Amino acid sequence: MTVDVTVIGGGISGLSAAHALMRLGHRVIVLERQVGVGGKAHSERIGGFLMEHGPSSVAAEGGVVSALAQDPGFGHERVGLGPDVRQRYIVADGRLYGIAIHPAAFVTSAFLSMAGRLRLLTEAVVPRRTSEVEETVAAFCHRRFGREFTDRVIDSLVCGMFAGTADKLSMAATFPRLVEMERKYGSILRAVILGHLSGKRMPARRLFSWREGVATLPTVLAQRLGPRVRTGVAVRRITARSRGFLVKTAGAGDIETDAVVIATQPHVAAQLLDGVDGEAACSTAQIETPPLAVVFFGYAREQIEHPLDGIGFLAPSSEQRQLSGTLFCSTMFPGRAPEGFVSLAAYIGGDRAPELARLPTDELIEMARREFAELLGVKGEPVLARVRHWPRGLPQYRIGHRDLIAVLTGTADRRPGLFLTGNYFAGVSVATCVVHATQTAIRVDAFLRHRVRELAVSRHEPICSANGARVMAMSPQFSKTKNAIADSDRENRFANFAS
Ligand SMILES: Cc1cc2nc3c(=O)[nH]c(=O)nc-3n(C[C@H](O)[C@H](O)[C@H](O)COP(=O)(O)OP(=O)(O)OC[C@H]3O[C@@H](n4cnc5c(N)ncnc54)[C@H](O)[C@@H]3O)c2cc1C
Repeated sequence: MTVDVTVIGGGISGLSAAHALMRLGHRVIVLERQVGVGGKAHSERIGGFLMEHGPSSVAAEGGVVSALAQDPGFGHERVGLGPDVRQRYIVADGRLYGIAIHPAAFVTSAFLSMAGRLRLLTEAVVPRRTSEVEETVAAFCHRRFGREFTDRVIDSLVCGMFAGTADKLSMAATFPRLVEMERKYGSILRAVILGHLSGKRMPARRLFSWREGVATLPTVLAQRLGPRVRTGVAVRRITARSRGFLVKTAGAGDIETDAVVIATQPHVAAQLLDGVDGEAACSTAQIETPPLAVVFFGYAREQIEHPLDGIGFLAPSSEQRQLSGTLFCSTMFPGRAPEGFVSLAAYIGGDRAPELARLPTDELIEMARREFAELLGVKGEPVLARVRHWPRGLPQYRIGHRDLIAVLTGTADRRPGLFLTGNYFAGVSVATCVVHATQTAIRVDAFLRHRVRELAVSRHEPICSANGARVMAMSPQFSKTKNAIADSDRENRFANFAS
């Protein structure tokens, strides 16, 4: 088989890249080793409950994700946060503390001590850092916001968003926009206030999903790609040729291709890059993805004392809880539980406690039940309990991550036609995966156009070959999406932080 582009991996990144390439007129094939598409995005309906084994919401404010979500194929089933989402909860001294969802809530609520709140406000006068040495999230936040806010809020937030620990993650790689705010305005608070005054508001948190869950996104993308998506096909090896590549698969034979997009998890990318780009193989192999487990429960409403009037709760490490956080799924979005029932999803493991994520299903269920009884007043047996183990969870953007990414971004220079995308580049969220994958597709398109021109020149032909015509054609719908990428800066990776 011969194609223009082979995309390896049918998760959100791979499908988004392939979808963009198809719209740009290229012959593309997606190879996915699992029987279904979606990768981490896996929604499952059982007996009226909708379980999200991976992502449960998408955060987007403008940009390419909103453009996709407004696309008729996706728009009709879109759901926003439910009306009962009023607070966020953080565990403090063994109980849940509710804090309103607005930017000033940490200053106005009594969650932090008076000294902690004053320290938070003095961020505006903390001198700008001049050193270029990379800082951890914990070091940056201690310096700017004080120890109490960092230990009680940032620590739990970082665990909830990245399954990571604040003292290991790189601030510049994890929250580049906050680092840029300090560099430009001298203070985050001042940057936010100046932004408000000039009418440029910090993007509000806008979480959404679809009636049948986040897996709607990969499902619709795969439907549009049709026979271009081949599931149950694992790529074994990529071999570079004088022009293009040979992709060896288990299940679909060998594929000749002008360009390859590797959209797998980093450890798989490391194996596939071995022998094609040693530097990139070495960089991807260094990105850790500690295991994570998701424990899903369905209960009758009356079994739970807590009002469940929020997105869920997070637990800072100082509380020494086994659950790092829990989502109140049926409060977040409609249709997540049958009438009279509720659903909860607990997250265990990540970089904070990888050993817990490897425990057997029964132990994880028992662990979550004990903590729910204590924190939410849950009584009796759940009507539904399921566990999803992710042996490889989320990539950790540790100190030095930006250097690894600089090497990976150079792959297409060292090995023209070879591209990488995935959640270890620009952010782990679904939104940033879509944006990075679409940007990668545009780079692939530029490479293929250039190749067509080169070929035509070498053969003294006008650029009007069948391939050339395809490469030059761009649907008006895609051109809209492409323009939306200009807005992608507004994609809110820091939505939870800002709100
Ligand atoms: C528990 C959990 C909760 C999350 N919650 C949220 C959330 O609420 N909101 C949010 O925005 N993000 C969330 N995320 C993050 C987000 O889901 C992921 O970052 C994103 O889905 C990753 O997509 P991807 O396509 O880059 O990678 P993946 O989904 O990992 O896809 C990679 C694909 O490559 C395939 N593959 C691997 N090897 C091969 C091979 N040799 N040949 C062919 N195919 C191969 C895999 O089977 C897989 O399908 C969550 C993640 C997890 C794990």
